[in-house]
Amino acid sequence: MASVNSNPIWLYFEKVDLSKAKCKDCDKIYSLGSEKPKFQTLHGLKTHLAKCHKDVNEAYLKKVSEHSEASARKKIKLDPEAERTLPNFVLCRQ
Ligand SMILES: [Zn+2]
Repeated sequence: MASVNSNPIWLYFEKVDLSKAKCKDCDKIYSLGSEKPKFQTLHGLKTHLAKCHKDVNEAYLKKVSEHSEASARKKIKLDPEAERTLPNFVLCRQ
């Protein structure tokens, strides 16, 4: 799972301390469940957007899908299969 800190949710929330985040839209404070990033959850934050800020939530979900598409593209580029094809191609031409 990707790090909590790289989630696009941070466009709509800001950290107030190690274990809490504030909604930029209505200033409500939500717990991340832990001070340790490994154990943190964005569930409360996501639920808040879905329940209280439907338009923001839609924008957030769009960002999330753009984000995962970008990661998928990166994965294809770093595919070892693709890297192996290139030297073969060079060999064939010689
Ligand atoms: Zn809010």
